Amino acid sequence: MPDVSTILMITIVIGAIAAFAWPRYQLSRAVEEPFPEAWRKTLRKNFPVFRRMPTDLQLQLKTRIKQFIHEKEFIGCAGLEITDEIRVTVSASACMLLLNRDSDIMSDLKYILIYPDAFLVKRESLNPEGLPVEHRHGVLGESWDNGKVILSWDDVLKGNKDFNDGANVAIHEFAHQLDHASGATNGAPFLGDAVRSKRWANVLTEEYESLRQAAYRGDETLIDKYGTTNPAEFFAVVTETFFEMPKQMQAEHPALFTELKAYYKVDPSDWIS
Ligand SMILES: [Zn+2]
Repeated sequence: MPDVSTILMITIVIGAIAAFAWPRYQLSRAVEEPFPEAWRKTLRKNFPVFRRMPTDLQLQLKTRIKQFIHEKEFIGCAGLEITDEIRVTVSASACMLLLNRDSDIMSDLKYILIYPDAFLVKRESLNPEGLPVEHRHGVLGESWDNGKVILSWDDVLKGNKDFNDGANVAIHEFAHQLDHASGATNGAPFLGDAVRSKRWANVLTEEYESLRQAAYRGDETLIDKYGTTNPAEFFAVVTETFFEMPKQMQAEHPALFTELKAYYKVDPSDWIS
């Protein structure tokens, strides 16, 4: 008869195996399920760029969406009820950033909060006397380092409907999550090796400075001037431009386009005219 410590050890080992294996088993079951017809209709309606993508990327996107929906918790805010339509549409934007990659699917991201439309956030700033003052303003989306993305449903739909204007709040916020995966949200996502990181830093710093100067001069720019806020915002903004206006970016910012193409492992100019 085994003694108590042996039984305890066996119990711990079995528990550890179950804790590790059971979620993986559930995930593989979820991914092996066929992509529901209703979800496919949602993609066609709310994520029209899907129809233009090559077949192999469409298949990858559908697999990633199943995985994403299985792993993330969607929470409706301000009375919004979460539906499969919302889950599939929002997941499509996140998963578009993960094509052709072996990486996990934003493992630090746990919750996606969805408001019906633009939502108010409280912010503190210093008044001219240096005293903190609280104010509220409306935002379309936010990304937090503590595992949350917050989005306005109405603006997710608007961003996908016009997929050629370089503005897409869902792509923007999920790009912040990728940036955060390197340990700090600073415009330098994980690139794998020092040579690539150095080249990335050189190209993005130069482009960031040039956008700041263009903004200062009041010039028209392809990249939204919100990207001048800081390097993290610059990365999120140029990700929007890369996926929505790839041909223009390639023509006007070839070095930046090359870095983003290497990072995202796709060339959206193959399917965006
Ligand atoms: Zn941002």
